[in-house]
Amino acid sequence: MKLCIIGSGYVGLVSGACFAEVGHHVVCVDNNEKKVAQLLKGEVPIYEPGLEELLHRNVAAGRLSFTTSTEEGVDKSDVVFIAVPTPPQPDGSVDLSYIEKVAREIAAVLKPGQYRVIVDKSTVPVKTGEKVADTIRRYNKGGAEFDVVSNPEFLREGCAVPDLMKPDRIVIGGNSERAVALMQKIYEPFMAPVLVTDINSAELIKHAANSFLALKISYINAVARICEASGADVEKVADGIGSDKRIGRNFLNAGIGYGGSCFPKDIAAFIAISEDLGVPFTLLKEVEKINSTQRERFIAKIREALWVLKDKKIAVWGLTFKPDTDDVRSSVAVQVVQDLVAEGADVIAYDPKGTEKAIEFQLIQGARVAKSPLEAAQGAEALVIATEWNEFTAVDLAELKNAMHTPLIFDGRNLLNPETVRNAGFQYTSIGRS
Ligand code: NAD
Repeated sequence: MKLCIIGSGYVGLVSGACFAEVGHHVVCVDNNEKKVAQLLKGEVPIYEPGLEELLHRNVAAGRLSFTTSTEEGVDKSDVVFIAVPTPPQPDGSVDLSYIEKVAREIAAVLKPGQYRVIVDKSTVPVKTGEKVADTIRRYNKGGAEFDVVSNPEFLREGCAVPDLMKPDRIVIGGNSERAVALMQKIYEPFMAPVLVTDINSAELIKHAANSFLALKISYINAVARICEASGADVEKVADGIGSDKRIGRNFLNAGIGYGGSCFPKDIAAFIAISEDLGVPFTLLKEVEKINSTQRERFIAKIREALWVLKDKKIAVWGLTFKPDTDDVRSSVAVQVVQDLVAEGADVIAYDPKGTEKAIEFQLIQGARVAKSPLEAAQGAEALVIATEWNEFTAVDLAELKNAMHTPLIFDGRNLLNPETVRNAGFQYTSIGRS
């Protein structure tokens, strides 16, 4: 089929590449000229394992192209996906101006006699589909036929390609049989379970899913506090409860909290949506509170051990919000760096993929950066592990101890084995483990 994706970021670009991989013809549109120029030269503007090969293969096969022109994308396609940002506003509600703008842009280029399915893949509040349809109707002077569908995306950054190629489920929210049938055809090659719903339910599924995952993280972090107060071990408790099939072990890893471009904004949005609808979801406010105080408690532990942070040389391993991505948006690791810098510490950070973006977006001003974990640790009076990159587990502990001024480790992701680290001569503090 012929598809267009408007917005070629983490969701749009990877989705476009995966749709092309299964044989569809895809035009990826973005209004960021620099990004499109990079893509046209064969450069990949984001780091996502497996993406580069996928892009090159499908461009070479003539199934994938890039443009800044919405008109070109809409003209060439039967189905138009919207994958633009839905950032938070200061009160937590969603800024829908990107979605509204794209709806107007699509309406302006729809031609009489055309039929297009407009699919919202961005994460949006329930009832947004209705507003998108109203907007297109109002701005589409030629009276072209169209249907709006909600198709929320559940990919995880860091494993977006396998997540898209082998999804747990596909959610298609639509009120038109014709549009739903086309969507089912698009997804047929993925051989995944498809759940067809009305538009409102599909939109709600995405916010409810992310909020539930965030709730699991805050739940185990609250349990970790009880473990610390009682001398229990949160890893063992998580294994014990997580091996119950009704609960599951995923998202039960204690740490310094969730971050990233989705969870914080989606939980805040779901709270705002519930309040707007007159049914406040107060449980989620506690989820947010546990999450933000988790980082504060971690910084307090560092302060307690080092007494004064001003002028202390502190190495931070990790800047991205999770491993295997270069995404540093709303990263807790970045916030840890900012907290330490704000207290006057001399921070030297290392991240395998995120340093460039952290510098470009001016997120770690006042901190220095290193080119390897050991370079960051050179002469450090403490080491903070803020992202659970696999690379950090491979560092030789004897070399690390030699490099550091004082062998103190604060592991915010429970990445290392406490016994191994202590046997290597470190004073080691982690989350919820005695
Ligand atoms: P992103 O910022 O990486 O990409 C969005 C792209 O849209 C950018 O390249 C931007 O230049 C482009 N854009 C903005 N306005 C445009 C316009 N008018 N025309 C053409 N292009 C335009 O964002 P993302 O992380 O891909 O997220 C997109 C949506 O998907 C959000 O709603 C997000 O919540 C949701 N989502 C994200 C993830 C994730 O892991 N990143 C997962 C699931 C859902």
